[in-house]
Amino acid sequence: MSRKEKIQRAAQRTASEAREAAKRQRDSERRARERREFTTDDHRHCSVCWTPIPLDADPPICSDTECAEKQRKRESSRKRLTVMLYLFPGIAILLVMLQVMGASG
Ligand SMILES: [Zn+2]
Repeated sequence: MSRKEKIQRAAQRTASEAREAAKRQRDSERRARERREFTTDDHRHCSVCWTPIPLDADPPICSDTECAEKQRKRESSRKRLTVMLYLFPGIAILLVMLQVMGASG
């Protein structure tokens, strides 16, 4: 391979690399733009089936009765979990306090 050919090949390679880089840059810019558009879109999703619903929908579910039922069940189990979350440490603290009082008294 002559020196001239080597230079020519190197130049071609750099040119194609530059083209690739430019393409990648454009792609990432477009993706960023699409993400921004998506996040600024004024809607939310049904928490059960992910159907787009109005932003001010409360509870955050669609008009489907099945979704309403599922949401209700989920809500009640969440409430139960919250109660347990406070109840169990409360009982534990109570037991510890009783033991401390029993030991000192
Ligand atoms: Zn739904």
